[in-house]
Amino acid sequence: MTVSSQASVLNPAQRHEDLAKLRTEEFDILVVGGGVVGAGIALDAAARGLKVALIEGNDFASGTSSRSSKLIHGGLRYLEQFDFKLVREALHERELMVTTQAPHLVKPLSFLYPLHKRYIDRIYVGAGLMLYDLLRGTMRAVPWHSHISTSDMQNIARSLDPEKVIGGLLYYDAQVDDARHTLMIARTAKEHGASLVTGIRCVGALRVNGQIAGAQVKDVKSGEEFAVKAKVVIGAAGIWNESLYEKFELTPGYKIKMSKGVHIILPKSAIDAKTGIILKTAISVLFIIPWGDEWLVGTTDTPYTGDRTSPLADQSDIEYIINEANKVLVPQIRIDQVISTYAGLRPLVSPAKDSSTTKISREHTVDHPVPGFVSIAGGKYTTYRVMAKDAVDAAVKDLGHKVPASTTRTIPLFGADGYRELEKNITHLAQERQMSTATITHLLNRYGSAITDLFAAIAVEPQLGELLLEGQPYIKAEVRYAVTHEGARSLEDVLERRLRLSIESGEHGVAIALLVAGLIAPILGWSDAEIESEIATYTQKMKAEMASLDER
Ligand SMILES: Cc1cc2nc3c(=O)[nH]c(=O)nc-3n(C[C@H](O)[C@H](O)[C@H](O)COP(=O)(O)OP(=O)(O)OC[C@H]3O[C@@H](n4cnc5c(N)ncnc54)[C@H](O)[C@@H]3O)c2cc1C
Repeated sequence: MTVSSQASVLNPAQRHEDLAKLRTEEFDILVVGGGVVGAGIALDAAARGLKVALIEGNDFASGTSSRSSKLIHGGLRYLEQFDFKLVREALHERELMVTTQAPHLVKPLSFLYPLHKRYIDRIYVGAGLMLYDLLRGTMRAVPWHSHISTSDMQNIARSLDPEKVIGGLLYYDAQVDDARHTLMIARTAKEHGASLVTGIRCVGALRVNGQIAGAQVKDVKSGEEFAVKAKVVIGAAGIWNESLYEKFELTPGYKIKMSKGVHIILPKSAIDAKTGIILKTAISVLFIIPWGDEWLVGTTDTPYTGDRTSPLADQSDIEYIINEANKVLVPQIRIDQVISTYAGLRPLVSPAKDSSTTKISREHTVDHPVPGFVSIAGGKYTTYRVMAKDAVDAAVKDLGHKVPASTTRTIPLFGADGYRELEKNITHLAQERQMSTATITHLLNRYGSAITDLFAAIAVEPQLGELLLEGQPYIKAEVRYAVTHEGARSLEDVLERRLRLSIESGEHGVAIALLVAGLIAPILGWSDAEIESEIATYTQKMKAEMASLDER
């Protein structure tokens, strides 16, 4: 299929059109949930030639898929749990994403594994990393691990206390902007013909003669309810999957256990290191991850039973992260350096009632309790494509005709085609566009070859090429693009999941909320009162996320 950015557009007109289809047409597959797994299912099924619709109650990636550690990895700690199948599968996916599927979004990243005991540690960790590198198979998207001596440690990670760390091993994984990546999967699904509508919640089953024949859905804003006809409904609702079963009056074949994971965000100046760092903790691991001009440090892994929509970091989470990092860091990091925090909920498939959340397998489960309903749970962000393929393989059994096998292994995500050529020409592009190389790099890593869409918008309205925040690479065109091409419908969608200013800016985008709202209001048809309400809602949300820091 040829890449055409027009076919992949998500905006108010497309939503209107797809909503009309939801009301009137019958689909082969209706996907409930627009996280990475739901978006992956929509792409997998549409690419097989099936007629697909996806509904998302809020925004793409508004659940767990915007709140991960943003690593595309095999998971060293799963290796320690002897979960070789999961590690091999995830490493294979990592290699595909870095090379062909999403090179614009998924970037190799090195991690230093610090050693504390001279010989035993080096042999044990060295053997583990050898296995880790071997499990990926024949592909070589990221470099092989290497040994780091005590003297080299100081060049690579000056902030690691030489009194405690005697050397290390450097290994490679990859990182991704999770929310943007999920969005690009959704756009690729759109390009393959899927109908995608956010702000539509599934509220029950549609039954004909007692058989599931689709779903009852509700437009969250207008409150209007209607039925969507589909031969199979696939629940990809992450931590909400069990409530979906309740709505369908079905009994799930698995239990979901929620585990809260918190990250803190620190300025680059807080830690002197040229690489990511992985630290082993008593219960799990802690990552210190470079993220633009910041560090993401996390995560925690604690059982959770509270509100699912907006989980928050509390003070004990932040203290735990700081204490664990400070076991090896000099100078120590302090709570007053923390720029922001975010918390996410892992949807873990629980095999038994009281198993510890850190030990529960990250493998996924496909459940097919009755004809017309399939659900998928568990897994990891990294393995979304395999999860999607498995869910669709289960669903097609109910279609009554032969359906081609999954093809997503070879489908580049939107923006990947042509990215490598553009990447080689950053300096030239910067001169041609009169932009800094930092801005061009930033745009390429977010939009890939769709950067040309932004250039086209700037050609029509040159002021869209202006910087949004002095000294930072974001431009005004990105704000507009979020609503004209990327399906954003609220200030929160734009600032939190398209631009990521909620975590990437010290003031979380609150100071420019009015400017951003002004740029998108004409397209979304907002009145002055709606602009005010959007700003108030966003400011309130950011305040709640920062509350645990304010307590200090
Ligand atoms: C702290 C943390 C760190 C992590 N780090 C990593 C990592 O580094 N690498 C990795 O591989 N994995 C990681 N994971 C795991 C990974 O993030 C998740 O496995 C993945 O994002 C889950 O995606 P999902 O699509 O299943 O769920 P979600 O992203 O939660 O999507 C479910 C969607 O369904 C929607 N929904 C729910 N109910 C309805 C309804 N009734 N109607 C319509 N829509 C509905 C929700 O709004 C939501 O958007 C991490 C998880 C956490 C919490």
